[in-house]
Amino acid sequence: MKPIIGITPSFQEEKQQMSVHLAYCSAIVRAGGVPIILPYTGKEGVAEAFGLCHGLLLSGGEDIDPALFGEEPHPKLGGVSPTRDAFELALCRLALAYGLPVLGVCRGMQLLGVAGGGTMIQDIPAQTGNPVKHSQQAPRPYATHGIEVRTDSRLYEILGTERLRVNSFHHQAVDELGERFVSTACAADGIIEAIECPAHPFALGVQWHPEFMTETPAHLGLFEALVCAAAKGVENHASGFEQAD
Ligand code: MN
Repeated sequence: MKPIIGITPSFQEEKQQMSVHLAYCSAIVRAGGVPIILPYTGKEGVAEAFGLCHGLLLSGGEDIDPALFGEEPHPKLGGVSPTRDAFELALCRLALAYGLPVLGVCRGMQLLGVAGGGTMIQDIPAQTGNPVKHSQQAPRPYATHGIEVRTDSRLYEILGTERLRVNSFHHQAVDELGERFVSTACAADGIIEAIECPAHPFALGVQWHPEFMTETPAHLGLFEALVCAAAKGVENHASGFEQAD
């Protein structure tokens, strides 16, 4: 049985409509997993979604409501989705508490940070000095800025390199991190580009969009690492059934 990876979609509050870029699903398939899209059906759906999945992929999208990390909204804050925030945060907290493998992409990484008690930079150009351009206008798979990776990290084990070029589609960033998380990669302007929770089996976030770069082994490797971590859950599940017989 292949690991089931639950993907959280974007949510348009006005239209009450979910959407997810196919690239996330294709990346999971390519990495050997089975992608499913998790519906935002309210609080009662969180535990069921959690129980169904061997791993989670938190996708990119809307800004996170700053009230969730104790701040007032900056004028440059973009659209927020309370429905998505509430569901994803609850799901993420379960994953952190029970060791379910989770990969956060862009907003997904920021959400991991907030779930771990961290804060955010609400708008990079307005709130930091001399930033790199993080809202690229180049094609999605095209890498536009460099990052430096901490060598004592799981991220480094996956990527196999200290320096990497990445794409960039964010105006927000992780700021302070809670005590369980560490920053594992930075851009030249000091903006955090990756985080992970060393005490967790697999809780890792990247600020770029590797789902559009899976032609490059290092980027595909992130999804393979998630599926591999999720596969261990499938094995445990299977051996549990054997013991029950
Ligand atoms: Mn960036």
